Amino acid sequence: MIDFLFPQYCTTCGRESKEALCLRCWKNFKKYFILNQKNRCPKCSHQLKNDTCLFCNSRHLFFDQLIALYEYNSSTKTLLLDWKYSNNANVYRIFLKDVLKIVKTIQPDRMGYISSSKFGKKYRSYDVLEKLLKEIHKITQIPYGKDIRKIKKNKQSKGKQAERFFNVLFSLGLTIEFHPINKYLLIEDTTTTGATINEAARLLKDAGVKEVIVLSIFLEDFEEESLWSQ
Ligand SMILES: [Zn+2]
Ligand SMILES: [Zn+2]
Repeated sequence: MIDFLFPQYCTTCGRESKEALCLRCWKNFKKYFILNQKNRCPKCSHQLKNDTCLFCNSRHLFFDQLIALYEYNSSTKTLLLDWKYSNNANVYRIFLKDVLKIVKTIQPDRMGYISSSKFGKKYRSYDVLEKLLKEIHKITQIPYGKDIRKIKKNKQSKGKQAERFFNVLFSLGLTIEFHPINKYLLIEDTTTTGATINEAARLLKDAGVKEVIVLSIFLEDFEEESLWSQ
């Protein structure tokens, strides 16, 4: 396992590379995986259909904005899994620059993330978001924390989308008490249904945070049939 700390091979193509992605894959990554911002909702980053955002129109959103960087597809999934579960410490460097750019634009008063549940521990030996935020904090000095945690088993992978949504409700809790905060940046690795980040934003707003902006590194495009509101 120790050998994985300093990967000698490109994460996606397996060619020899000191970086997580070789130059060729890096160019491809930039070209194909960056979320094309055209024809997307300015509030939630989802694709518009006939100038309408089905995501925003089908639920009450507690967050003020959802910003996403990369598309979640079969290729980026490999990278995401490598980042999250294989202790590949270099993968986050791919995102660092882009995340930092957003953080500097937003200038939040605090940054935070949802800690992985106990159930995930057997898969990951460290918290990838913790590492990323620590690095951003070093550069920007913006305070951060593991402010939200999962408090019960969340059966995300089972059941219909609507059921999943109700499973997420009340499945999160805050780990700190907030003093009045104007702008909070919640950083997530992937957004699929959006239910988890919405619940997190609800808690933050309840605790007195005025503005909650979510930065999701990957975004899975929203399909019409995955509406989780009634
Ligand atoms: Zn490569
Ligand atoms: Zn929208």
